[in-house]
Amino acid sequence: MKFAVLGDPVAHSLSPAMHAAAFEALGLDYTYDAVRVQAGTLGTRLKELGHKGYRGVNITVPLKEEALGACNADAFALRCGAVNTIDLQSRVGINTDGPGFLEVVRGIEGREVLLLGAGGSARALAVALREAGFGVTIWNRNPDRAASLAASVGASWTESIPTEGYDIAVNATSSSLQGESLDLNYQPTRTYIDLYYSMDSDTAFVADARAAGAHAIDGRELLVAQGALSFEFWLGIPAPRQAMRRAVGL
Ligand code: NDP
Repeated sequence: MKFAVLGDPVAHSLSPAMHAAAFEALGLDYTYDAVRVQAGTLGTRLKELGHKGYRGVNITVPLKEEALGACNADAFALRCGAVNTIDLQSRVGINTDGPGFLEVVRGIEGREVLLLGAGGSARALAVALREAGFGVTIWNRNPDRAASLAASVGASWTESIPTEGYDIAVNATSSSLQGESLDLNYQPTRTYIDLYYSMDSDTAFVADARAAGAHAIDGRELLVAQGALSFEFWLGIPAPRQAMRRAVGL
């Protein structure tokens, strides 16, 4: 069977190495490619890939919203406004970022989350966290987007980053991608989760949190969790999470 991640840019993605490690761990002779797909062309490219015998795809930036209209999105993906996984046989599309993030926070103490960002990923996380009963406060650089996301998921929002009132802070902005720090009151009693990851060094968010003595994790945890759920959706067998973790350096 053939699988792929579609995005633009996509060459940097760790998904091919992670899924190849999963297939190898289970002795499956399957492949997983990175395919550059420009915005606006997803529907056509999905048909092409289906004809070429691809069984399933992951969807990444900037195509997750476009993917909603290019498949039969399930109810959760519709609530998230984004699809990141499609079965090309059934054309069903789902969102594994939200449920994957719930796997990441399982076992972390605290039920109050400060969510930084109001883009596509923040929306999927906000929907999943609220449906799982977490308290969520949203901050975004553009406050209108924070207010609108908060209203749609039943969360709170704030114009300035709060110093108190949360156990887990999640960076769902692109600040780490740009190497920029966020002005937080980092506390050793809290957990800090960056959605972004770099294999070379800690992200600015993770480095700032660790410097304050706090527990901090980067986006590789979510990468593995959402990838494992995609694998299980396509193949219907448990994903070898340990092999997938090792493949991304965890
Ligand atoms: P979007 O483009 O949809 O949203 C970007 C968000 O970042 C917006 O809220 C934007 O605010 C904010 N932002 C951009 N630059 C800055 C800055 N310098 N300071 C503060 N806020 C900023 O992106 P996504 O939601 O798709 O992705 C967000 C991050 O999550 C990315 O780094 C991405 O790589 C990562 N990610 C990781 C995944 C994983 O598996 N590990 C899965 C999905 C995403 P504004 O509205 O004001 O412009």
